[in-house]
Amino acid sequence: MNSFIDLTALTAPDNITEHAALSEYTTFHAGGACLALVSPENTDELRNVIAACMRQEIPYFILGRGSNLLVSDSGFPGIVISLRKHFSGVRTEGERIICGAGALLKHAADEALSASLSGLEFASGIPGTVGGAIRMNAGAYGREIRDCIESAELLFPDGMVRTFSGEELELSYRHSVVEELSLVVLSAVFLLKSSRQDEVRALMDDLNQRRRDKQPLELASAGSTFKRPEGYFAGKLIDDAGLRGFRIGNAGVSEKHAGFVVNYGGASAAEIYQVIQYVREEVFRKFGVLLEPEVRLLGDF
Ligand SMILES: Cc1cc2nc3c(=O)[nH]c(=O)nc-3n(C[C@H](O)[C@H](O)[C@H](O)COP(=O)(O)OP(=O)(O)OC[C@H]3O[C@@H](n4cnc5c(N)ncnc54)[C@H](O)[C@@H]3O)c2cc1C
Repeated sequence: MNSFIDLTALTAPDNITEHAALSEYTTFHAGGACLALVSPENTDELRNVIAACMRQEIPYFILGRGSNLLVSDSGFPGIVISLRKHFSGVRTEGERIICGAGALLKHAADEALSASLSGLEFASGIPGTVGGAIRMNAGAYGREIRDCIESAELLFPDGMVRTFSGEELELSYRHSVVEELSLVVLSAVFLLKSSRQDEVRALMDDLNQRRRDKQPLELASAGSTFKRPEGYFAGKLIDDAGLRGFRIGNAGVSEKHAGFVVNYGGASAAEIYQVIQYVREEVFRKFGVLLEPEVRLLGDF
């Protein structure tokens, strides 16, 4: 264990991976290691891990599926906390789907399908966790988390837990109160509508087919790399700037969808980052629009 913090005093040894290679925990498949990756078993353990990090002034980071994340090649000199192992339950109660923050959105959407509930179809192809999706107010095909979330349970850095209504989460385009207040999403309740199961399935299948047709799902990426600039589409600007297929080393702009920066295999985080920066510079030079990355950066770039 690193010399600053004894995680074995806080959770069972099999919940701790020292020097975890974060490339294995992100959909970009790039980046270095962290000091340790820890999967707390319950809220008390999570609270204690965060408190120990704060006390020792060791940075910590809450990891979901890592599907919107680029980790530096030099890694993250802190503790990465994952809720995927022990906070991943999903269940139905009437018209509500109740999920742990570490549950995959796909799992939540499949549960809704089984219960003939409509409202989460848009989420079935978004490869993140419920916690990451709330943090990002993830959305697709005209719907977003804001439209279906009833409430979420959140942990404050001082250890307090409070339930926020959907409104209190202040969800807007790729934004929520979660980051502003350094909160951790513990669980969420989605309020859906009873529907016909075949209709839920048909919509889900249609949206997933549209994804497969348009997106480079066969390559490692973090989805749309940039936020949608007001009045434009990032992918179209990048395409119009002549950058479709542009490459640096093993990273590049997807041929299939110019809004995706992809890892063709073995790209370093530095290469991916250079592509992102080059695209931003070129689009700004040609069209005067500054693209803002949607992808979160972790570590030094
Ligand atoms: C192929 C592909 C397609 C995609 N399509 C879409 C799409 O259609 N729409 C869309 O919106 N996104 C899309 N994404 C991006 C990504 O899936 C979403 O942003 C998703 O919500 C991120 O969730 P995650 O669990 O992977 O979060 P991570 O990438 O692990 O983390 C993202 C942020 O959320 C924070 N976070 C994670 N869990 C918690 C928690 N429990 N509490 C507090 N903070 C937390 C992290 O600290 C980080 O700041 C796509 C990505 C890929 C690879």
